Amino acid sequence: MFDFSQFPFWSLAIIPLAIVFLWLLFRTKQSHKRQQSTLSSEYFKGLNYLLNDEQGKALDVFVKLVESNWDTIDTHFTLGKIYRKNGEMDKAIKIHQGLIGRPSLPEQYRCKILLELGYDYLGAGWFDRAEGLFKEVLIQDEKSTEARHNLILIYQQEKNWFKAIEIAVDLYSENPDETGPMIAHYYCELAEISKLKGDVSQLENYSKKALHYDDACVRASIIMADQIKATGDDKKAIALYETIESQDVESIILVIDSLSECYENLSSQDKLYDYLLALQHRHKNLFLQNHIAGVLEKSQGSRAAIVYLTDEIKRQPTLSGMQKLISYKQEEIDSDRVFSDLAVVMSVLQKDKVEYRCQKCGFNTNTHYWLCPSCNRWDSVKPGILQPEHLHII
Ligand SMILES: [Zn+2]
Repeated sequence: MFDFSQFPFWSLAIIPLAIVFLWLLFRTKQSHKRQQSTLSSEYFKGLNYLLNDEQGKALDVFVKLVESNWDTIDTHFTLGKIYRKNGEMDKAIKIHQGLIGRPSLPEQYRCKILLELGYDYLGAGWFDRAEGLFKEVLIQDEKSTEARHNLILIYQQEKNWFKAIEIAVDLYSENPDETGPMIAHYYCELAEISKLKGDVSQLENYSKKALHYDDACVRASIIMADQIKATGDDKKAIALYETIESQDVESIILVIDSLSECYENLSSQDKLYDYLLALQHRHKNLFLQNHIAGVLEKSQGSRAAIVYLTDEIKRQPTLSGMQKLISYKQEEIDSDRVFSDLAVVMSVLQKDKVEYRCQKCGFNTNTHYWLCPSCNRWDSVKPGILQPEHLHII
């Protein structure tokens, strides 16, 4: 009988491993009754080594066991995954290296072990070794989707966009919906590098390729529209910015300032007002009230902006809308104490406002990312506006 109080903390962490092993052992016992006795005693021996944190001895036992019966290999994969999940990459690597080095290894398991070892190296941050293993998988199975996906992730991490494109294009015909947006972003990365180099021709070339693989690629439209805006062709830039509405309407918030500048350069405040009003009408979930108020302020003065905002906030209350209204009121009645106090309260509430949120993993940020730094997905970070549902405006 174990007295757990005498064992250090790591011993308790082994308990889930022991449970998994016992369960797998039970399954093994069901299907291999003739070998039951030998396997059970050897497994318990290995398990005992694990409980005593004698990893080397435990691995020796398990590797010998698998050599006598390769049907038990799933047990090793499970153990490797548990170690990897716990961040113990060295132990996971030892397990998989032990398997791959066995002369009796049946060929059917080779790719699976190489993939698992590749995951171990990825987890340990050894991308060059992982790359080598995934390439080795492709030599044996050129259609391995898993190996190609992992190579893409490695090249993405290394910002080697050409290599990432080469593999992703290979996968495109099999799964265009998933792979198309990825390829589009790789071309956008190249377009942004071209922009830094001042190579407009390549910028356009890569942006067009991005749109070829994903016609809803907002990033490519923004890169092209920004470039055209920089040349002074505001009309063409406006047309491009406005295509974002059909690509992904929420992302129009990303370009609303640039779009407004183009209209202002053309002295077309009235057209901007009409456009924003129509956009708001078409998409009730967009919060454009502050932008519309800003246009009204410039064209008709702050009184018009106050009238508009007062009305809008009753219909669609937002913290930013209320803060904007209070700032207008403060300017109008400079010495009003009530509005000064309210402004302080609103700025405190606004401080916690999240500007962008990942729709896949919930990551919150005040900086926009095309690739979520938390879940590593493209296009999942969207503008998000906090609505004060607890505020009741009469
Ligand atoms: Zn995310």
